[in-house]
Amino acid sequence: MVHIVGAGPGDPELITVKGHKLLSEADVVIYAGSLINPEILKICKPDADIYNSAEMTLEEVINVIKKAESDGKMTVRLHTGDPSIYGAIQEQMDELDELKIEFDIVPGVSSFLAAAAALRKEYTLPGITQTIILTRRGGVTPVPDKESLKKLGQSQATICIFLSISSIKEVVRDLMSAGYKSLTPAAVVYKATWEDEKIIRGTLSTIAEQVKVEGIGRTAIIIVGQCLSTQKGNYAQSQLYSPQFSHMFRTAKL
Ligand code: SAH
Repeated sequence: MVHIVGAGPGDPELITVKGHKLLSEADVVIYAGSLINPEILKICKPDADIYNSAEMTLEEVINVIKKAESDGKMTVRLHTGDPSIYGAIQEQMDELDELKIEFDIVPGVSSFLAAAAALRKEYTLPGITQTIILTRRGGVTPVPDKESLKKLGQSQATICIFLSISSIKEVVRDLMSAGYKSLTPAAVVYKATWEDEKIIRGTLSTIAEQVKVEGIGRTAIIIVGQCLSTQKGNYAQSQLYSPQFSHMFRTAKL
C-alpha cells in the first residue's frame, strides 16, 4: 500500500495526525527533498529506507514503490504542503493505477494557509473579496494564456502566487497591467512556519525591492490583495455572527 501524504509547510507539528502515524510506520519513504523540512523525517522508523525524490526521475520513484510493493512493504510518498497543489502527483497516481498498486492520499496544510496564519489575516473578507486565487507565473511549466496574471488580476481577489519569487518584478508588472493599483498591499512569506521564517509587508510598488534587499530567492509565497491592509471598520462584518441574523443554529438576538 502507498500513502501519498502532505507534510505541511515546514513546522514538523503541522503534519496531520494521520500523516504522522503513517510516516512513523512506513518501511519506505520517498520525500520531496527540495522543500521538506528534514526535521519531519525524524518521525520515520530508524530502519526505514528513505529516498529524496529531488534526485530522482518519475520512473525511479515508481521503481522504488514497485519494489517495496513486491516486498510487501508500506510506502509513504511525502509531499510538501498539500500534495494536490503543484505536487506533480497526478502522473504518479496514473502510473500506480496502471500497475494496479493501491494508494490513498492524506491532505496537508498548504503554504498559502501557513502564510495567512503568519500574516494574521483572513483572505475572504466580506465587502472586500470572497475569492482566493492560487496561481504561479509560467516557468518550466507554462501557465495557459487564459490564466495569465494579467487576466486573473482583473478580479482583484486575494491572490496567492506560488513558485514565482525569483520573478517577483514580472509578477508586479503583470498585476499592475491587470489594473492593480501601485498601493495595493502585497506580502511575501519566506519559509512559513520554519524557524527562519521571514515576513515582508509592502505594496505592489515596494515589494520587489524589499524582496531583493532581503535576498529572498526561493521557498516563498507572494500574497496580493486588499485583504492584507484592512482595519476594523473598513470591511463588512460577517452575517454569521451578527446579532440581527438568524440561521440554522441560532436565532436573531434582537
Ligand atoms: N504543495 C505545496 C506547494 C509546492 S510548490 C503547498 O501546498 O504548499 C512550491 C512552492 O510553494 C514554493 O515555490 C513556494 O512558493 C511555496 N512554498 C512551499 N512551502 C513554503 C513555505 N513554507 N513558505 C512559503 N512558501 C512555500
